[in-house]
Amino acid sequence: MILPILKFPDKRLRTKANKVETVDNEIKTMVKNMFETMYASDGIGLAATQVDQHLRVVVMDVPDSGGDYQLLLKNRENKRSKPLAEKHPLCFINPMITQKDGKETHSEGCLSIPGYYAEVERFNHIVIEALDENGKTFTLEAHNLLAVCIQHELDHLQGILFVDYLSKLKQKRLLEKIKKSDKS
Ligand SMILES: [Zn+2]
Repeated sequence: MILPILKFPDKRLRTKANKVETVDNEIKTMVKNMFETMYASDGIGLAATQVDQHLRVVVMDVPDSGGDYQLLLKNRENKRSKPLAEKHPLCFINPMITQKDGKETHSEGCLSIPGYYAEVERFNHIVIEALDENGKTFTLEAHNLLAVCIQHELDHLQGILFVDYLSKLKQKRLLEKIKKSDKS
């Protein structure tokens, strides 16, 4: 099922997500719907917050630009080795960044702010721990675009949007642009 995506400046995007207590069927259905919604919108990441579900769940499918994925997957039975298949869906439940370093500036966009892109500085190397869609713990080491995308999506769970990092002037211009296009 494709879910409606909240659009900036909707206040619900500012909601802080709650921890998932158990990865039950309800959560699994939500994850499935989130993947469907993300692929239907040609996105590379989607946080539950964006579909008005305020739980710590993120789905992602970032193209591998070579070495971005270093799946540690300590506790996964099927250890995937590089290169990954064309599609590499990743689901993070209750994600936690345990290590971060390096700085890099990337152009970012967001399904909640369609058609708008801006440069944001992020860590370019992170290690993240989370539960997968089956409730199993895994650890992922991520670089470059994948690392950027994870930080972007985790921000959503805190009610933070990438435009919050921009200057007040840029934020003002963006809001004016949105108001104008809403009228037309
Ligand atoms: Zn986003």
